Amino acid sequence: EAEFLGRHGVPTEILDKAALHECEPIALDDVIGGVHFTGDSFMNPAIFLAELAKRVREMGAEVHENTAVTGFESVSGKITKVRTASGEFEAEHVVLAAGAWSPIVARDLRLKLPIQPARGYSVTVAAPRNMPRHAFILGDRRVAVSPFGELLRFTGRLEVGEYSTTPDPKWLARLEMFVREYIELDEKLDVKDAWAGLRPVTPDGIPAIGRAPGLSNLTVATGHAMVGLSLGPGTGQLVSELVNGQKTAFDLRPLSLDRF
Ligand SMILES: Cc1cc2nc3c(=O)[nH]c(=O)nc-3n(C[C@H](O)[C@H](O)[C@H](O)COP(=O)(O)OP(=O)(O)OC[C@H]3O[C@@H](n4cnc5c(N)ncnc54)[C@H](O)[C@@H]3O)c2cc1C
Repeated sequence: EAEFLGRHGVPTEILDKAALHECEPIALDDVIGGVHFTGDSFMNPAIFLAELAKRVREMGAEVHENTAVTGFESVSGKITKVRTASGEFEAEHVVLAAGAWSPIVARDLRLKLPIQPARGYSVTVAAPRNMPRHAFILGDRRVAVSPFGELLRFTGRLEVGEYSTTPDPKWLARLEMFVREYIELDEKLDVKDAWAGLRPVTPDGIPAIGRAPGLSNLTVATGHAMVGLSLGPGTGQLVSELVNGQKTAFDLRPLSLDRF
């Protein structure tokens, strides 16, 4: 995987046991190697989103929080109104980016949008005595570990098909158990937050980004599955290009809605 990514311009360094333990001293003795993505970075999504909302408001955008879209009106292949719980909006152009809920939000529009919810789990604990130096993914268990200053977060698991965001306590406990297989942690952790969230997945695992067939003023951007935060800025650029009728940064045919 590291070699494949390397060929596509992602810088990686293969770490043997000694190098890995030097890089991440709290790794347990059983951990015999790893891949260091030397160009990688990570962030706390809640802080990023709060700052992004602040920035777009400063730039003149209005953000209507807690305003559920309940339906659309369209005439001659053009959306004329967006109905919401707090009134109707007229829009020159509509962007459908409601994640796993996109097919539900768009039910009036008769789009073929086979998005399914894939539930993932998150457990955030107060910083233990030994904090990891890096954010990392535990390869075999597919659990991500992210040090956020005074907090440490574990995320993982993928359960396809249900819209419930109620976490199964068994899997919350397992996340911590899996992390303990790789790194030294305090015997008792102080859990600050635990939740489940829904990722939007497509049948082929590739996002759906493009102008909607049959509607002249709708752009769709969803289906980012496990990497929506990483891909979000790139998708934002593509959506801006699509809405403004510009040439997109790359050929979007593999991502188009026509493939469904
Ligand atoms: C546990 C977990 C860990 C993850 N870790 C990572 C990671 O490490 N890196 C990464 O890149 N990605 C990660 N992801 C995936 C990432 O969170 C998603 O890919 C991303 O959130 C998808 O973005 P989105 O904007 O399409 O959908 P969402 O973030 O789901 O946003 C959709 C929005 O639409 C709103 N909505 C729903 N219905 C309506 C309605 N009727 N009217 C108006 N609004 C509505 C929802 O409230 C929501 O705010 C993780 C996901 C989970 C669950």
